[in-house]
Amino acid sequence: MKVVHISVEMAPVAKVGGLGDVVTSLSRAIQDLGHSVEVILPKYDCLKYNHIHNLQEKESFFWGNTMIRVWNGTVEGLPVIFLEPENGMFWAGCVYGRRDDGHRFGFFCHAALEYLLRSGRRPDIIHCHDWSSAPVSWLFKEQYKQSNLADARVVFTIHNLEFGTALIGKAMAFADKATTVSETYASEVSGNPAIAPHLSKFCGIRNGIDLDIWDPYNDPYIPLPYSSENVAEGKKAAKKELQSKLGLSQTDRPLVGIITRLTAQKGIHLIKHAIWRTLDRNGQVVLLGSAPDPRIQNDFSNLANDLHNSRGDMARLCLHYDEPLSHLIYAAADFTLIPSMFEPCGLTQLIAMRYGSIPVVRRTGGLNDTVFDVDHDRERAAYHGIEPNGFSFDGTDPPAVDYALNRGLSAWYDARDWFNDLCRQVMEQDWSWNRPALDYIELYHNARK
Ligand code: ADP
Repeated sequence: MKVVHISVEMAPVAKVGGLGDVVTSLSRAIQDLGHSVEVILPKYDCLKYNHIHNLQEKESFFWGNTMIRVWNGTVEGLPVIFLEPENGMFWAGCVYGRRDDGHRFGFFCHAALEYLLRSGRRPDIIHCHDWSSAPVSWLFKEQYKQSNLADARVVFTIHNLEFGTALIGKAMAFADKATTVSETYASEVSGNPAIAPHLSKFCGIRNGIDLDIWDPYNDPYIPLPYSSENVAEGKKAAKKELQSKLGLSQTDRPLVGIITRLTAQKGIHLIKHAIWRTLDRNGQVVLLGSAPDPRIQNDFSNLANDLHNSRGDMARLCLHYDEPLSHLIYAAADFTLIPSMFEPCGLTQLIAMRYGSIPVVRRTGGLNDTVFDVDHDRERAAYHGIEPNGFSFDGTDPPAVDYALNRGLSAWYDARDWFNDLCRQVMEQDWSWNRPALDYIELYHNARK
């Protein structure tokens, strides 16, 4: 099978959120199964060039009046084609955030299809993602269905329905198959007018994580390699290093980590509440997050200052994007809090579990499909063939998050052996792409029937 992803994000060279992670890790998993995978990406000026190997300009072509340079390179072992329109539309210092994003990405989608046609490639599957590469779906059906690309089938994946619903509805209508990133989210959005007419070709396949990138036994950003065999020791060393790095008191207390975009989706009112609740219960909190909205960023800066002045030894808010620090926090934290209002899949809880950090989550979307409450979900977990692995809650108000957080903290204080066993078990669960990659292969085959 030959698969081409047309995407505007790809980790780690152009990662903004989970979409970037998924494009890279799903592609690697499909490649590992013996299929051919390529990614077509805009050549942003802000690409993390140190992660691109053998970058070479190969050719150029005109699309309308614009010359487009074509570069080849390798990212995380994957062949990537970078398209660089000479008019500089991707020299903006950012992936998203310009007023003409819709126009820029629409142009990119068209240029990518045009490149595929001219290159003589014959992909079996063209896989596009979210509103930003949604135009691929209808451009293909309207303009390329009679071309040499005609044998390809289009698969469209929704990573977050919140953005660009109108574009998503158009892509749903034209795609051969459409997916979203967990089964629960698929059913949660099934009534949406963009989705409802197309349910027969729509399904949920949960995301996985790349076990090479997220591996506490082989992680350059943590002090002591660990596996489920020596989880307590490894996490203790990481906690010590994090406390010293951030100037927190070197005390043996439950540590709650929060790693997130700070947006309404992520339940910021519950995050704030949980910070104070954890402090009330003599726990420590480290938050790593950045807010695209300056008002929210400002609000959290004020909270960071308050906490620094009043509880500086026990809480630290780091309000920026910092990949290495995120690794250390996952390793150090006893709990990872994810109180999302909605969550298509969520990678944070999967990474947290890989590092033996117990997820405390709101039961929604992919969080519902991957986190099984130790007190309430034993049967549901057994149905999926795993042991319960976290603490969850349903409501959207502070008492709801208290319910899950308090049970977690009490277990840490009062049942340490049981808690350490839980960490060990959770680390051994398989949240990789092994299974979902097979589901995608099956979907690709079905798209071609
Ligand atoms: P979303 O895509 O909605 O932001 P996901 O849970 O799917 O949420 O993916 C979030 C990814 O981004 C995870 O890999 C998480 O570790 C990472 N992340 C989020 N915020 C930060 C930050 N401030 N610094 C470093 N990594 C972050």
